[in-house]
Amino acid sequence: MQQLFDQQQAFFRSNQTRSYAFRKTQLETLRKLIRDHEQELLDALHQDLHKSRFEAYTTEIGFVLQSLKRTIRKLKKWMKPKKVKTPIYQLNTKSYIQYDPLGTVLIIGPYNYPFQLVIEPLIGAIAAGNTAILKPSEMTPATEAVLKRMINDNFDPAYLHVVTGDVQVTQELLAIKFDHIFFTGSTRVGQIVYEAASRNLVPVTLELGGKSPTIVDATADLEIAARRIAFGKFINAGQTCIAPDYVYVHSSIRDAFVPLLNKVTKQFYDHYDDFGRIVNKRHFNRLMRLLDQERVAGAHENDPEENFISPTIMTDVTWEDDVMQEEIFGPILPVLTYDNLDDVIDLLKTKDKPLALYLFSKDKTTQQRVWNELQFGGGAINDTLMHITNHHLPFGGVGNSGFGAYHGKHSFDLFSQQKGYTKRSFLWDPPIAYPPYTKRQEAFIRKILK
Ligand code: NAD
Repeated sequence: MQQLFDQQQAFFRSNQTRSYAFRKTQLETLRKLIRDHEQELLDALHQDLHKSRFEAYTTEIGFVLQSLKRTIRKLKKWMKPKKVKTPIYQLNTKSYIQYDPLGTVLIIGPYNYPFQLVIEPLIGAIAAGNTAILKPSEMTPATEAVLKRMINDNFDPAYLHVVTGDVQVTQELLAIKFDHIFFTGSTRVGQIVYEAASRNLVPVTLELGGKSPTIVDATADLEIAARRIAFGKFINAGQTCIAPDYVYVHSSIRDAFVPLLNKVTKQFYDHYDDFGRIVNKRHFNRLMRLLDQERVAGAHENDPEENFISPTIMTDVTWEDDVMQEEIFGPILPVLTYDNLDDVIDLLKTKDKPLALYLFSKDKTTQQRVWNELQFGGGAINDTLMHITNHHLPFGGVGNSGFGAYHGKHSFDLFSQQKGYTKRSFLWDPPIAYPPYTKRQEAFIRKILK
């Protein structure tokens, strides 16, 4: 690992990654490779997670192709040093921000979107002129294998390289003094990464998870809310970092809302052909332990042979239940009720800050209150998940759901160092700030600095 890292550092020091032409070529190569490997990727994602063609294309392959298209188009503009204003007392001076690459970065990915969550940060890393080592999740071995082939057969290892392996390999990588570590995964492992990185003072971005709340009030269009919530929850069988973890519905609409949730879920996934599977037996068993069969409203099926759990709605859930003690990360949707929005807001303020929050309400005051009083990474009003698809929006968490944000220009900024500098001419050199200091000088300075 150390040798690979040293090679990448040498490559970085050769300055090759600094030019616009180099970065653009690498992004175009990556785009071509993704297009060439599309079928292999679709097959691998189906094998690992039973992702339908549609989901695999939209949330993984198409997602990053669109990001690449935009990054290639904007790269020249993003790279240009930005001229900023200069205070009047800095005579004959101009000020700039230059976007420098960080160096060699490590990108560690999770299993749920095993392709997108490695490639999307990589686009930012390449655009910003870094070299990168990628460590995809070992829990999705088919996708891991395609990623490895795709990158390692086509890029110089001194520039980009995929490393595969289990925890031990990651621990070895974490001992190296990278210039940045970009980690996507659980809060538990995020803590391990942060701790290891701190030993070498390596800056990190942590894209973590949490229990993302969804609130539905009495003013919402219930049928549309049910559809958008079921879509956001059950895509990828609930294994989405920003999936609605649970739904809080106003008690006056609960009896109307739960049957609607069941109805739309049945419409979406009648034969479960397009429905994902749980990544492995350990997570299947974990989810089955969270499920209280007595409280299932509507249908529930499971098949341990296939790690299959059908979309399952649980009602009359309280914060004492097992399902509310951890991020669910599977197709179980608990429904809680509330009478007073104040109580929900007060309670959520005491919980860990989630990665996302969704609110379904036509009431402007409610929208403003929830948005202004609660802390969460990002979210949507009257929708789920869609904020992640807009590359103009920074995507990231806060508190326990992580720190640092990326996507689009935000990715470029994240993987760059913003080097601020001034440039002065030799034309004139008034002794305003030079010693020995006089009373006149001080009086003059006091007029400016106040
Ligand atoms: P995970 O934390 O178990 O694993 C993530 C990566 O860390 C994997 O590559 C794994 O090999 C490595 N890893 C695991 N244990 C390690 C250890 N002890 N030391 C060093 N490395 C280790 O996460 P996961 O189960 O693959 O993914 C699910 C989690 O990721 C959920 O909590 C989800 O919310 C979160 N997530 C967050 C985002 C986001 O963008 N914020 C996106 C997807 C998933």
